[in-house]
Amino acid sequence: RQEQYLKLRDVPSVTKDGVEITLQINAGLVVDLPHLDETGAAGVGLFRTELQFMIAERMPSASEQQALYSTVFAEAGGRPVTFRTLDIGGDKILPYMQSVEEENPALGWRAIRIGLDRPGLLRAQVRALLKAAAGRPLKIMFPMVATCDEFERAKQIVEREKAHLANHGHPLPSDLKLGVMLEVPSLLFQLEEICESADFISLGTNDLMQFLFASDRENRRVADRFDPLSAPMLRALNMVAEQAQATGCVATVCGEIGGRPLEAMALIGLGFRSLSMSPASIGPVKAMLLEMNVAELSALIREELKNAGGGETLRPKLAHFAETR
Ligand code: PEP
Ligand code: MG
Repeated sequence: RQEQYLKLRDVPSVTKDGVEITLQINAGLVVDLPHLDETGAAGVGLFRTELQFMIAERMPSASEQQALYSTVFAEAGGRPVTFRTLDIGGDKILPYMQSVEEENPALGWRAIRIGLDRPGLLRAQVRALLKAAAGRPLKIMFPMVATCDEFERAKQIVEREKAHLANHGHPLPSDLKLGVMLEVPSLLFQLEEICESADFISLGTNDLMQFLFASDRENRRVADRFDPLSAPMLRALNMVAEQAQATGCVATVCGEIGGRPLEAMALIGLGFRSLSMSPASIGPVKAMLLEMNVAELSALIREELKNAGGGETLRPKLAHFAETR
């Protein structure tokens, strides 16, 4: 199997009816980056910057952060990298950072909330990213954004850092794209506005599932209780795909579902053209999409979604489609 996927490495990632799909990897450490060459992935769709913080014994300094990001750019060899700013808090605790017990850490003081309340941390990280990206294109996205306003404030921090570096004669990134993770359901009801102000949206379906169905992703008793291929989730994803298309905003998926062939197939059927996943999933997902006819699939999903009742899952119908294509 592994060998069969290896053969697909240099095969263009295009469906049977000619639709190009961008496949990228999720990463968080320098050791993840050789997977780009091994899998033939187009880039890093999600670089989880908190990993450096989680494995350190003390807060990484600004220059240590910058050094990591420079190495990531070098190892990526010109392929695009999307950096996510610190997603700490919740279950991602930094031992050296003072934390307060929270009743519901997943719903607590975490990610962009910390970034906006303690802007010193976010500013230092943004500056390290801007410096490391000098002369190169840079993509930054913010985790756990719940309102457009939070994204605007994060954007302002980036703009301020950019202006500061320019004033001090530092070379800037050749291009800067700012995006949001869509993983808090409240953003589903600010879609038009967020699509207009973000350069791109990346769907964090791990958290989106958790918050949409109010089922803890870390709790084995409920984590798999709801199906991402059920009508409520697919309708949420469909709203995003449609709004992104209408506003010309790029929408990608970086949650785990993008790495499961059947789920990835559904995402492509809904209109997503860019998926980021764990490196081991690139082969299986590519093998699936090479055999796929997007027009047929898209018609099937739309029809089924119209008719699906309650929490009905489309899994059996999609599996049947995949087997009989
Ligand atoms: C997600 O929530 O889907 C995601 C990609 O981020 P993480 O798994 O790091 O929370
Ligand atoms: Mg998340």
